[in-house]
Amino acid sequence: MTHSDRGPDARSTDIASGAGVPRWIAASLNFCSRCGAELRFGAIEGEDRLRSSCPACGHVAYVNPRLVVTTLPVTDDGRIVLLRRGIEPGLGAWAQPGGFLEVDETVAEAAVRETFEETGLQVRPGEIVGLYTRLEAAVVVLVFEALVVGGTPAPTPEALEVQAFHADAIPWSGLAFKTTYWALVDWLERRHPHLRAPAFTVGR
Ligand SMILES: [Zn+2]
Repeated sequence: MTHSDRGPDARSTDIASGAGVPRWIAASLNFCSRCGAELRFGAIEGEDRLRSSCPACGHVAYVNPRLVVTTLPVTDDGRIVLLRRGIEPGLGAWAQPGGFLEVDETVAEAAVRETFEETGLQVRPGEIVGLYTRLEAAVVVLVFEALVVGGTPAPTPEALEVQAFHADAIPWSGLAFKTTYWALVDWLERRHPHLRAPAFTVGR
């Protein structure tokens, strides 16, 4: 499969498609969550993919990626807000606010909630900048552009520093994640097409 066949969301992942359940997830798939019996990895009737399932009750332990909802908050003078991460992964490096979607909220609600929790800013989510697959972490990262409509930027347990950057002063060499890099590239292309991002160098 060529790069383009995988879609633009694959720019942020470094491993090939089709490698199955990551080892770090498989390591926690030992027992049936329904009846407690030991799971067996192998063929499932009617499915073309090997999976873990329960020989006692038939429960199939499906493994699917989680959705990470994030924002690129933009101030009324057009600066973009990033935070310096206070937790691993990416401790000390710059990223956009965001987190895992909860099961009882919409993606827009998650974007507002996570942005407030991590930066102290109230935002109104706008256009979707992009979707970025990260097979290494079994996540898909959704990135909204979001207008800052209130709040006060302040450090939080998850952010050592919250700072607004002009489009030509984005801290490209200190980004935490490839997903952040590609979101900023796509945002720049849309809002500041005359600016060019350097190649991704650090982070993961
Ligand atoms: Zn079972």
